[in-house]
Amino acid sequence: MLSKSPSILELELSGWGRYPVIKSYLQRPEKISSFSEIVQESKDISVIPRGAGRSYGDAALNPKGHTILTERLNRMLAFDQQTGILRCEAGVTIKEILEVFAPRGWFPAVTPGTKFVTIGGAIAFDVHGKNHHLDGAFSRHVKSLTLILASGEVVECSSQENSDLFWATVGGMGLTGIITEVELALCPIQTAYIQSHKLKANNLDEAIALFTEYEPQYQYSVAWIDCLASGRSLGRSILMLGNHAQVDELDSKQRNQPLQIQSKPRFKVPFDLPAGLLNRYTISTFNGLYFARQRSRQVQSIIDYDSFFYPLDFLWDWNRLYGKQGFVQYQFVVPLETSREALLKVLQLCSHKGWGSFLAVLKRLGSHSGWLSFPMPGYTLALDMPVKPGIWEFLEQLDQIVIQYGGRVYLAKDARLSPEAFRSMYPSFPKWLEVKSKVDPYNHFSSAVSRRLQIESIRELVQV
Ligand SMILES: Cc1cc2nc3c(=O)[nH]c(=O)nc-3n(C[C@H](O)[C@H](O)[C@H](O)COP(=O)(O)OP(=O)(O)OC[C@H]3O[C@@H](n4cnc5c(N)ncnc54)[C@H](O)[C@@H]3O)c2cc1C
Repeated sequence: MLSKSPSILELELSGWGRYPVIKSYLQRPEKISSFSEIVQESKDISVIPRGAGRSYGDAALNPKGHTILTERLNRMLAFDQQTGILRCEAGVTIKEILEVFAPRGWFPAVTPGTKFVTIGGAIAFDVHGKNHHLDGAFSRHVKSLTLILASGEVVECSSQENSDLFWATVGGMGLTGIITEVELALCPIQTAYIQSHKLKANNLDEAIALFTEYEPQYQYSVAWIDCLASGRSLGRSILMLGNHAQVDELDSKQRNQPLQIQSKPRFKVPFDLPAGLLNRYTISTFNGLYFARQRSRQVQSIIDYDSFFYPLDFLWDWNRLYGKQGFVQYQFVVPLETSREALLKVLQLCSHKGWGSFLAVLKRLGSHSGWLSFPMPGYTLALDMPVKPGIWEFLEQLDQIVIQYGGRVYLAKDARLSPEAFRSMYPSFPKWLEVKSKVDPYNHFSSAVSRRLQIESIRELVQV
């Protein structure tokens, strides 16, 4: 039975993709001590923490229990100006860190493509940025974290202390406990600007060659890819590279206040667009125009960090572009050795079947980290797909290609992967399950994704 005390709000809730929408019971504790109390007092009800709700699918949803909002865990606790180490609560967002620390010359060492995520959410999916090939995932910069376990016990862990728990928690989707505090290393910057370099690639081979050639020179790299182009243009892309700019690279106006940027207006999508608006014809027209807009083969410029890292954040509620039914993002990674072949197969299938993505992003990833962390050395492609008839069958076809080439799907973006496909894609899952079974034998931390993927504790493992 779900408790319905007055402090519990009943709401229809979804992730960023607006699929699935699930009736949820929400709690919003004000203090860290209240988090412990909720965990201890609600023994017969499962709980899952929720940050900013920017994961796309069902990871921060709990239809059979309570969803615990972490938004009031938003205090910065200490900062060491010498080392750049910040101690903060887990509900602090990347946006808040930027607002406070970029003007003081410090920047998040890893940031995803939106700044509206919490530190807890970033750890729970061990997120990657445009610098993963060099700087690794978010967890590499986490010095330590504090976790409330299912027993109510509060433990500290890091890659050195309680390391099994640490590697199960990074990427662990909130299923090992609630992260309350974090020690995070920021990286020093001279300016709030990025020296950006855009290059055109006429097909996938050119794009991969450009990534390989330019990556040693640039800390950040990402490519927009036209996933509906076919024939000799299959995989045509615009590669965007960047480094933090030095003061002497700025113009005189920027040099006056090198660590400040002007805030720009944000636009709102006023209503849900008709579901069919983004179709193969509109997307293919948009892609053609976007590719043609950059006339020369390469363009260099100095732009502020918001424009480089977070272009989508300028459009508030852009998830409404896909209509009421919502959308999923299909993001997968394939190992370096098989990347070219696998990407060609996926792009050919998208182009052939007309499953275009308005936004398709290609990135190079580096080494693996947590047991359920997504990255592996290789290329990752992210495709946004509206929920409409035929999508699940199509994505299952893509799963088969990804599995065949030794890759995996990113669970932060997922809402439909099967338990069997998950097990083929995440070979370190048994190690994760062993830790989960020890620290949470009765599945007190549980969510829509843990039930869908059947990744709940096995009691026998508790004795191991
Ligand atoms: C526009 C856009 C761009 C993105 N770009 C990238 C990208 O470039 N790279 C990338 O890796 N990801 C990217 N993402 C995905 C996003 O970074 C992750 O889904 C991230 O986890 C969202 O954080 P959140 O605070 O919104 O967490 P939520 O979505 O609320 O929750 C995500 C998971 O974290 C868990 N969680 C949240 N808080 C805690 C806590 N305090 N303790 C324990 N568990 C917790 C939840 O239970 C859930 O399992 C992008 C998302 C969007 C919308």
